[in-house]
Amino acid sequence: MKYDLILIRYGELTTKGKNRKKFITFLRENISVKLKKFSHLKYESTRDRMYIFLNGENQTDVMNALEEVFGIHKFDLAVRTVTDLQSMKEHVLEAAKEALKNGKKTFKISVHRAYKEFPLDTFALQQQLGAHVLIQLDGALQVDVKNPNVNIKVEVRPDFTYVMCQQRNGLGGYPVGVGGKSLLLLSGGIDSPVAAYLMMKRGVNVECIHFHSPPFTSERAKEKVIDLVKILTKYNRQMKLHLVPFTEIQKAIHKEIPANYTMTIMRRMMLRIATEFARKRKALVLSTGESLGQVASQTVDSMYVINEVTDLPVLRPVIAMDKLEIIDLSIKIGTYETSIRPYEDCCTIFLPDHPTTRPKREKCAWFESKFDFKPLLHQAVQGIETLTFKQNESTNVNGLDNLL
Ligand code: ATP
Ligand code: MG
Repeated sequence: MKYDLILIRYGELTTKGKNRKKFITFLRENISVKLKKFSHLKYESTRDRMYIFLNGENQTDVMNALEEVFGIHKFDLAVRTVTDLQSMKEHVLEAAKEALKNGKKTFKISVHRAYKEFPLDTFALQQQLGAHVLIQLDGALQVDVKNPNVNIKVEVRPDFTYVMCQQRNGLGGYPVGVGGKSLLLLSGGIDSPVAAYLMMKRGVNVECIHFHSPPFTSERAKEKVIDLVKILTKYNRQMKLHLVPFTEIQKAIHKEIPANYTMTIMRRMMLRIATEFARKRKALVLSTGESLGQVASQTVDSMYVINEVTDLPVLRPVIAMDKLEIIDLSIKIGTYETSIRPYEDCCTIFLPDHPTTRPKREKCAWFESKFDFKPLLHQAVQGIETLTFKQNESTNVNGLDNLL
């Protein structure tokens, strides 16, 4: 069966009354960047759906790519025909024959009659089309309305009728970009890439910031983070990775701060830098991969103390997830294999044996008052390198671009 187009349903977007136009514009742009290499595709969007005309492009490749775009609820491969009974019958029969060829045994016809003036009502149309299939195929395909192997959908509209029998689920969520921007603290671990994915799922454009401490952290640890960002670029047209030189601060903390507080103070320094840099990048919120209770720095007490240094909201999309749930998601989104590469990151290297799980604000303030860390923070922000990754150009890093 030769399909003409893919019909995309927006899902959650339909609930957003007056913002709908913006959503559709973003979705359309995100889809067309994602499908850029399929140069013959043509797009048409309406208030409640989008049509992508295949014009000979490979339907499976196009559908696989659409599975990585946020803001799509479901999509169908469809044939478009004129709205008359005879051509509906022909196309429905063709779909049924294809199902039979693929080993299916039962079918059902679901008619959606958006064109109310069509002479046959929904029930009569279903009956006529179903009977046509039964007769023409001599009963080789049986009707099963409850649990059919194939559901042949017929959508009758005034201008055209669509016949569909292959549907896939989209990723749901909102198109990336409609929800503003967040600066996300990306480590090389399992959790923060999942957090990035979930932020993007809610339509937020994510830029990543990573703290590294060469020579204590290796070039490979940096490559790992770069690879994670490249994977995440599947879900966003473009991603930026900001690399913060953190060595001097780590050394100072190590020297000046009692061991059980180094972790807490280090997190506070990270958050201070991220807050300053977020302002430059016009990101209104920070996000992290913290999950409650997982490690010493992720207790309620720690978060209370660490959060104190920023006036930006810190969003933590995996806060209540179990590690196994996070792992499942990281496998699904494709980051897991990279996250478990065994390279040390700056936190693990300087990690004390017994970090406090119940730090106190007053103590942090006292320890921090004993050395002048502000110039170091400023220096770190000045030294940030930025890499830009574009979707569909996975091998390239567009060099360093000087944003500051
Ligand atoms: P992850 O799997 O994301 O590394 P984790 O369970 O290992 O998380 P931590 O190492 O305590 O937990 O880190 C908590 C959060 O702090 C991370 O999810 C990330 O948002 C941020 N973070 C930790 N290390 C770095 C780093 N080197 N650069 C940027 N952000 C970091
Ligand atoms: Mg970590």
